Amino acid sequence: MTISVLPSHISDQIAAGEVVERPASVVKELIENSLDAQATHIEIKIQDGGKTLIEIRDNGSGMSPEDAEKCVLRHATSKIKNIDDLFSIYSFGFRGEALAAISAVSRFQLITKTKDLNYATQITIQGGESKKIEQTSSNTGTIIRIQDLFYTTPARLQYLKTEETEYRQILKECISFALAHPDVSFKLFKNETLTQDYPATKTLENRLHQIFPKFSRDFIPLEEKNRETHLSGFISSPEAGQSHKNHQYLFVNGRHIYDYRLNFAVREAYVKSCGIEKHLHPFFVLFIQTDPILVDVNVHPRKLEIKFSEPAEIFQLIQSGVIKTLREKSSSFLSDRSSTSSPYAPSKNSFFPPSPPSVKEKKASQNFSQKLFSPFQSFQSLYQEREEKKEIPLSSPEPSTEKKLTALAQIDKKYILAESEEGIFLFDQHALHERERFEKLWEKYKSQPHHLQNLLTPQVFSLTEDEISLLYEHQKALKEMGIDISFPSDTSVEIKTIPAILTGQDLEKILFECLQYLENHHISETGQDQMMRKLLEYKSCRGAIMYGDKISLEEAQKLLDDFLLTKWSHLCPHGRPNHVFWSFEDLDKKFHR
Ligand code: ADP
Ligand code: MG
Repeated sequence: MTISVLPSHISDQIAAGEVVERPASVVKELIENSLDAQATHIEIKIQDGGKTLIEIRDNGSGMSPEDAEKCVLRHATSKIKNIDDLFSIYSFGFRGEALAAISAVSRFQLITKTKDLNYATQITIQGGESKKIEQTSSNTGTIIRIQDLFYTTPARLQYLKTEETEYRQILKECISFALAHPDVSFKLFKNETLTQDYPATKTLENRLHQIFPKFSRDFIPLEEKNRETHLSGFISSPEAGQSHKNHQYLFVNGRHIYDYRLNFAVREAYVKSCGIEKHLHPFFVLFIQTDPILVDVNVHPRKLEIKFSEPAEIFQLIQSGVIKTLREKSSSFLSDRSSTSSPYAPSKNSFFPPSPPSVKEKKASQNFSQKLFSPFQSFQSLYQEREEKKEIPLSSPEPSTEKKLTALAQIDKKYILAESEEGIFLFDQHALHERERFEKLWEKYKSQPHHLQNLLTPQVFSLTEDEISLLYEHQKALKEMGIDISFPSDTSVEIKTIPAILTGQDLEKILFECLQYLENHHISETGQDQMMRKLLEYKSCRGAIMYGDKISLEEAQKLLDDFLLTKWSHLCPHGRPNHVFWSFEDLDKKFHR
């Protein structure tokens, strides 16, 4: 490897952005470098969540003394020579600025040796200055030691989260590299203790067992391709759904990415093929292999998001891959069962609809994809719409008293047809009931927020270290909300009290709802009300009349009456839509009256 300095016209075209944002981004850059240097063993040592020490040791190619000296210069890279390289990147690092940036904001030490020299080069830099170059002895490979990250930029330092949060991010980085490179051994030390040890192995399946032993039995292999793209990996059986999204890994050409839409595609496929419960999320590790020319990795400064030239095709590939895999699994399960077990044995496969799909199902999925790929509604807008609708707003308008709705019929066990003076309404019965329940619960909670329910027998749940640290970090805020927890061990949590309003709920579900919320939000920023609202949304959904429940006309009328008493009865389009409306005036126009 020889290093050349990028001409400025190229460096300018590289998307600007901070390379080092937090300890995990340093770890990411350094592991990428080690992998690019063909390392097969990578050891990561972290202290204080990476704030005082990040050390990465690899057995890769190492650098010559000349390259070692150059590698910390801005735009020093051995990986890009011209602009075309930017669009066909197979190596990981490619900005030639990671080491320069990191060494500018830390006490930095590099020790590196190539196999053809019998001595190593050591470079020491303090906050980007007083560079010292020495000879030393070491094994072939590279050790990079970063102490006191951001000590030169106190503002940045302040922005870092707790040790646990920073460590968790680092762990996530390590796991995603380990998944993408089963043939490389990874060891992660946290404050001197070896916490993750993944020996090199031949298959992704083995690596999954190393990382997620708890889920060993739940992985289903998946493979699907179209003209230029190959999709492979593992997805969880529907029964192993999680209430958080921590275990969703997507890779494009070996690079870990985050793409909300693609993650959504996977979940949607579960919904279509086996009706995974609303609050559960599949576990998946999926690899998309495609022509690098079809993806732009420079969209996100930290290279987490990428842009596809044909996003709809990738989306469809993922959906069809997941649906096919789940259906095959379900039919093999059915045939296994029919030959071995009694027809009276309780069915475990109620998740799966009979395949092939019914005409109705086909229609539904066609509608969905037509909607998705319709030229009139872009991908983006569809998702934005879904995201926006998900939230039930808190600020309530005044109740409407004068409206009167008359239930006319229940349709297809899903909808209530109703009439008012102004026109005709079609209500989604579940959404309607959910909304009404939520309103009531919310009012009750607001009127007595500090009512607690002491659990007669405190309940203990085992969780991953990741989940424990998340709860640990928010212990105080949770307690203020009425969820009092303690930690009997490193991998278990005990719940002692819950807010009275949640009495009767499945505690484990409450716990997972909390985890999911905390994973994606910071309570101190969003407020405890927001989190309570999520828990109540869950509770209102669970007890509500479901899609598919047969109800009488009297029950339908009661639902409408109760709904009209809530503050939301003005049928505002905010929140999840619960009805469609045709005014008599519009109908008259339609019929040319
Ligand atoms: P980039 O990876 O974008 O080229 P970096 O600042 O991360 O930029 O690294 C600069 C150069 O230093 C790399 O191109 C590579 O030649 C060399 N380098 C960095 N880390 C290692 C390593 N662990 N082993 C061998 N060479 C390395
Ligand atoms: Mg790099």
